[in-house]
Amino acid sequence: METPRIDNLIRSERKSVGLSVTREGLLVVRAPKRLPVAAIEDAVRERAGWIRKKQEENRARMGNFPPHAYEEGERFLFLGEGLTLHYSANVKKIFSSGGVLFVPMEKRESVRKTARGSARGAVEAWYKAEARAYFASRLGHFGALMGVRHTSLRLSSAVTRWGSCASGGGISLAWRLISAPPELVDYVIAHELAHLKRRDHSVAFWAEVFGVLPDYKKRRKELGEFSPVLTNL
Ligand SMILES: [Zn+2]
Repeated sequence: METPRIDNLIRSERKSVGLSVTREGLLVVRAPKRLPVAAIEDAVRERAGWIRKKQEENRARMGNFPPHAYEEGERFLFLGEGLTLHYSANVKKIFSSGGVLFVPMEKRESVRKTARGSARGAVEAWYKAEARAYFASRLGHFGALMGVRHTSLRLSSAVTRWGSCASGGGISLAWRLISAPPELVDYVIAHELAHLKRRDHSVAFWAEVFGVLPDYKKRRKELGEFSPVLTNL
């Protein structure tokens, strides 16, 4: 097997060679200051199988979800699960069942339109309605655990900022977040509710998040990795 190419070599005071693969699939190698290049290449070659696997996984995750064209058979994500778009003459209203997102056939005719009545409009409206109901239920769940109550829930169309909390207690969540796995949605919700107690990102703020999600750091990292997928909806 060919030695994987090192995209970024970082020398430091560390004692051993560390390998990581970015979400774009680039190989980052951290190595002791004076370790010969041949020794670094040996370490990379030894773990070539793992590196290739990781690179393929990450590139697939980034590239498997191009912007939707709303064609039959396209894959969508809902709470981390795949949904396959299927146009049916037998359905009047959009709904999901058994991993299929059923859309009335008449929406297909207007697939190119962006206005209401198009497939895109119908699917987005469905996502927004599902998002509102799901977010409201999780806000209730975590609000009770944390002893806080938001005043209102607004859905935003943001693609980089998944949530925000206004000083009046209103919480805004990006509807596209409903594509993410439930544990990542919960992280955003617990985060915004914690802002009802603490406006900043202080140690005390993170302690509030930790109180309901002890593994919040892992979730925060995963949300960062997942974000490119969410923006494609
Ligand atoms: Zn925050």
